[in-house]
Amino acid sequence: MNNNGLLIVLSGPSGSGKDTVLEKLLKLDDNIVKSISATTRPSRDGEVDGKDYFFVSEEAFCDAISNKTLLEHAKYCGNYYGTSKKVVEKLLNSGQDVVLKIETEGARQIKEKCEDSLRIFILPTSMEVLADRLFKRGTEDKKSLESRLTRAVDEIAYSLDYDYIVINDDADKCARNIYSIINAEKFRVCRMKNIVNEVLNNAKTIDR
Ligand code: 5GP
Repeated sequence: MNNNGLLIVLSGPSGSGKDTVLEKLLKLDDNIVKSISATTRPSRDGEVDGKDYFFVSEEAFCDAISNKTLLEHAKYCGNYYGTSKKVVEKLLNSGQDVVLKIETEGARQIKEKCEDSLRIFILPTSMEVLADRLFKRGTEDKKSLESRLTRAVDEIAYSLDYDYIVINDDADKCARNIYSIINAEKFRVCRMKNIVNEVLNNAKTIDR
C-alpha cells in the first residue's frame, strides 16, 4: 500500500487570509504539516527564523537554485521564495500531508513536477476586502503594498488553473472546506489503485 502523504499547494493573493486559514487547517489534523520555505525577504516583526521562514541571503538562495535543491522557487515582489526538495520528500515519505503555502509561479512548477499534487486557491470575496486587510495588517510599506495589489490581480486570474477555489468569507469555514477537499482527494480512483490491486491479489489466495 502506498503510504505517501498528499502534497497540497495552497495559494492566494497577499491579504487573502491564507496564513490564518492554514493555521486553522493545521489544527484540524495532526497529520497535516506545513513546509517552511526559504526567502530572501527581510523578516517582519514577530517572525521567527526556522518557524515562519528560513531567512537567507540572496547568495545562499542562488546557490540553492544552482545546486537544484529546491522543489520550486519564484521571485515575488522583489524577493526570492523557495521550497526545499529534501524536506518535502522526507515528510511525504513519512506519510504526512504537506502544505506548500506558495504563490502562483511556484504552483505552476509543482503542477509540472508533481502531477498528483492537490492545488487549492483561496479567493477573497472582493478586491476591496483584500486591499483593506493588507492595509490594516500594516506589514508593508506603500511600494510593497502597491506591488502586492497589482500581483494579486494576476494571481486571481491564474486561479482558474487550480484544482479547487475556496472563498474566504470566514476563516473557520474556509479551513473546514479545504479539509473536506483534502479528505475527498484521498479517495480518488487514481490514488486507490494499489489498494484495489492488493485486495484482488488477496482474493486469489482465498479457497473457494
Ligand atoms: P510573504 O512575503 O507575504 O510572506 O509571502 C509572499 C508570497 O510568497 C505569498 O504568496 C506566499 O504564499 C509566497 N511564498 C511563500 N513561500 C513560498 C515558496 O517557498 N515558494 C513560492 N513560490 N512562494 C512562496
